[in-house]
Amino acid sequence: ATAAVLTLSLTACGQEAKGGSRYRPADGKGGTIGLAMPTKASERWIADGRNMASQFKKAGYATDLQYGDDKVENQVAQLENMITKGHRLLVVAAIDGSALTDVLRRAHDAGIPVISYDRLVLGTKNVDYYASFDNERVGRLQGQYLVDKLKLGKPDEDSGDSYSVELFAGSPDDNNTKYFWNGAMKVLKPYLDSGQLVVRSKQTRMNQATTLRWDGGTAQKRMDDLISKSYGERRVDAVLSPYDGISIGVISALKSAGYGTRSEPLPVITGQDAELASVKSIIRGEQTQTVFKDTRKLAAQTVKMGDAVLTGKKVEVNNTTDYDNGEKTVPAFLLEPVSVDKKNTRLLVDEGYFTAGQLR
Ligand code: BGC
Repeated sequence: ATAAVLTLSLTACGQEAKGGSRYRPADGKGGTIGLAMPTKASERWIADGRNMASQFKKAGYATDLQYGDDKVENQVAQLENMITKGHRLLVVAAIDGSALTDVLRRAHDAGIPVISYDRLVLGTKNVDYYASFDNERVGRLQGQYLVDKLKLGKPDEDSGDSYSVELFAGSPDDNNTKYFWNGAMKVLKPYLDSGQLVVRSKQTRMNQATTLRWDGGTAQKRMDDLISKSYGERRVDAVLSPYDGISIGVISALKSAGYGTRSEPLPVITGQDAELASVKSIIRGEQTQTVFKDTRKLAAQTVKMGDAVLTGKKVEVNNTTDYDNGEKTVPAFLLEPVSVDKKNTRLLVDEGYFTAGQLR
């Protein structure tokens, strides 16, 4: 009993020293972690939820895993419910990063710490840590892939060739969207300026290219439209797509317009998440690239963070500058994304992300 009391008071002191703790004194392991994930429409979030639930369990906690079906009001209600039930920690992958201010204030008032998962929650001080991938790097990998695959020379050594590219961005309410976009644009902008890359639709601003809730059908419609309005006789040579589900929509539109044959091959198309359907598409030669983000590692990092918060240990972060949510710069742990195309899909099997059978 003495030891337990000592741990409690030490932890409380430690946290107060960092500026007045709002946590209940860390009472060690146990209790329930609320996991609020956005949607089951994409494999990655199903894996994220499953991985965190099993890893938190191994670390000595129960979990309450909820999916918001991409509806903000569902996610808010789920978080409210978690607070009412007295869960010890909330892990949130926001549907709309700006819509959680009120509910997270309630979490704060109840002394419940919050980890922002993959997507940063905006406009509130009531988020303690952020676990994600290097989101700008994701965009750079996509942009660089297009440049390399089209074999563009240096922007200042213009060969005279020019290629048509169309640009897609993610959901406007997801904070990651602008990181992906900005990362890609850092690479692509010099080629757009030199004329080696041309956006024939002239839709070159992020807010012209966003895809609400990352919806593949929405992307498909936009691509249909771009093809019919801006590509009479001309070819689309490349498409910047920020997410595999969007790439699938884009490919459907292209196929309906006659692409995907020997005489009219599909353009170079990027993606993100290494979702099974897209990895198979890459192997078939349709989608060209994706960005692999190992959700098992993100889950492991988040469980480590959550456990450290709840047991009063030091929380490991590796970025304290890049993720300002408008109210505070949230200390983050960022993992490295990896570019995958036909040449290295094998990596996904070697890493145990998929079995060889799944990719056949
Ligand atoms: C995630 C991506 C994912 C996208 C759509 C983003 O916030 O970082 O991995 O492709 O949401 O689900």
